Amino acid sequence: MKFISTRNSDKKFTFYDALFAGLAPDGGLFIPEKFPLFDKETLKHAADDSLTELGERIMVEFISELPTDALQQIIRDALNFPIPLVMLEKNLYLLEVFHGPTFSFKDVGARFMANMLSYFLTNEDKKLKIIVATSGDTGSAIGNAFHLMPNIDVYILYPENKITHLQEQQITTLGDNIHAIEVKGTFDDCQLLVKSALLDKDIREAGLITTANSINISRLLPQTIYHSFGICQLLKENIHASPVMVVPSGNFGNLTSAIYAKKIGFDVKHFVAATNINDIVPQYLQSGIFTPKPSKHSLSNAMDVGNPSNFERLLANFNGDFQALRNAVLGSAITDAETLAEIRNTYASEQYILDPHTAVGVAAARKLKQYTGSPIIVTATAHPAKFPEVIQEAIGKQAEVPELLQAALAGTKQTVPLMPDFREFKALLLG
Ligand SMILES: *Cc1c(COP(=O)(O)O)cnc(C)c1O
Repeated sequence: MKFISTRNSDKKFTFYDALFAGLAPDGGLFIPEKFPLFDKETLKHAADDSLTELGERIMVEFISELPTDALQQIIRDALNFPIPLVMLEKNLYLLEVFHGPTFSFKDVGARFMANMLSYFLTNEDKKLKIIVATSGDTGSAIGNAFHLMPNIDVYILYPENKITHLQEQQITTLGDNIHAIEVKGTFDDCQLLVKSALLDKDIREAGLITTANSINISRLLPQTIYHSFGICQLLKENIHASPVMVVPSGNFGNLTSAIYAKKIGFDVKHFVAATNINDIVPQYLQSGIFTPKPSKHSLSNAMDVGNPSNFERLLANFNGDFQALRNAVLGSAITDAETLAEIRNTYASEQYILDPHTAVGVAAARKLKQYTGSPIIVTATAHPAKFPEVIQEAIGKQAEVPELLQAALAGTKQTVPLMPDFREFKALLLG
């Protein structure tokens, strides 16, 4: 399998190229050149697969550059936690993708990417620097995934006082090869420092350097595994009606990987792009006009994105055909008030505590009157304990804090303070 850019299908790239480059040379995003399509017989077998068996079945179709046993090992290491489909109410299911070490779905892609990079680097005896800007969840997933990996140093830039205490503890208490950099500025300042570094000649000449956000295709492909697994779990429950899949979205990587599950043959009736007030994609699905805006703060802060970085990839699924996209994906924007009400009501009726991002998805699902009778799967993207302030506000108490989060809370914060000044950052990277 080869990969192409969203902007040019002539030039082919290997998975290795796409993994290490992140962004295609023409500025587009890497996508698979074509999609495998499983036949009925294979899909029937897939329905009986365990999570990792299904992962192997899917990933060998996309990645052919390393021995199958090495790929299998990477998948087993990346997906070594359960991803259950939980019934919330009749016809309403939650795909809990938050049982990984940092309690958001980002663990899946981050761990797969880390293991892939480590595999290639070890074979080639090269060193790599990874720089990443975070507004919260990405930093912890990447930090945890790369912690203690040989030949890799990770620099996580986060804005001082603008991420939650828990998120900061998760990023700053790892130490070793994970360098937490507290930037006296905004998330945009962090992102600009990362971009400038990737383009800087001296830094590039000094050695391999890349970034690890969801523009990297290696983070998206493994996410297709759990979306497919969710569908298979419905079949195991003897539910054969096609499901509607609701994905709480920010940069639209997760929704893109859900669409990949349908492209390879898994049955999906419709997709729903659920956002908070940062409703650029729902607006686009209404009007056909894509208008990026500065991001607005919301209770589901991991989805506060004003210019979704995977939009080009989302559209490429439909060969740029707006009508085709619109026939497959419905947009739904949910306010903070609706999010709080959803957490409160779901807790009152089911004693289940939704995190604010998942609550956006569930609130969007409840608005889908046209799909009454269809099973709906909402991707549950984070554990509620990551957002104690919001949960407290919604239901007047806290979600139980998992042990690993408690450990992060107890750890000692280690950071390097940085002014939002490129020369200072460059000196730090080259020093
Ligand atoms: C990152 C994140 C999202 C948004 O996912 P995208 O792939 O960027 O659309 C949703 N929920 C949580 C908890 C996240 O961390």
